[in-house]
Amino acid sequence: MNRGWISLGWGEDRAPNAPTAMLSLACQGDMRLKPRPAAIVLEETARLFPSRRFVWLRQEHTRVVLRSGAGDAAAGLAGDGLVTDDPQTLLGVSVADCMPVFLWDTAGGGRALLHSGWKGTGIAREALKLMKASYGSRPENIRALLGPSIRSCCYAVPQERARSFAEEFGEDAAVFRDGAWRLDLVAANTKILKAEGVLGVFAYPACTCCDARFSSYRRQGKGGYTCMLALCAPWQAEGRRGRHNTI
Ligand SMILES: [Zn+2]
Repeated sequence: MNRGWISLGWGEDRAPNAPTAMLSLACQGDMRLKPRPAAIVLEETARLFPSRRFVWLRQEHTRVVLRSGAGDAAAGLAGDGLVTDDPQTLLGVSVADCMPVFLWDTAGGGRALLHSGWKGTGIAREALKLMKASYGSRPENIRALLGPSIRSCCYAVPQERARSFAEEFGEDAAVFRDGAWRLDLVAANTKILKAEGVLGVFAYPACTCCDARFSSYRRQGKGGYTCMLALCAPWQAEGRRGRHNTI
């Protein structure tokens, strides 16, 4: 039993061999990676995925995506997205209102895990490029899972930020409602992915700021917020055993 974690599905269209996508909940404590993984991060990743090599980045709200292969170690480098096709690699990013984005090439070419807040929005396009260059991934074979993030209900921003966001990612990416301009990370990322040819995009229905199960920079505040850890492992991992156990 993994209390303190939720498993994020890939939508209603069942995908039995989809990568395991998990997110720690606020009750798990602070799972930050920066400047280096908290002790509990290493304990939990070793407990959940004992045979995998945990790879993480020093996240800086960029659109930088790195590839992690079997022999190299991207761990600890600066960047906000990771792609891999190595079955031994466990990808991790930490979030607190920013969106964890999971990509999976159903034709077998790899998977990606991205940290995508407003500054880094557009990183999904960079990940698709790197998956194509590295593994020959085709967008029509890729499925995307947009994990829990702050939603437009809670994401009021200055008008200037909303305007530039809408200019880059379309008018649905920023909305004026209840007296404030608000960003919509789901709309922005969906637009990016669809424009690149990705057919299957699923957004997990939760707002990290509204829902106290999650950690939230906005709700918890600058001085006291905690981070959640998103993990992406290949489907052959513990996830499959878990499914069999529930039958
Ligand atoms: Zn909300």
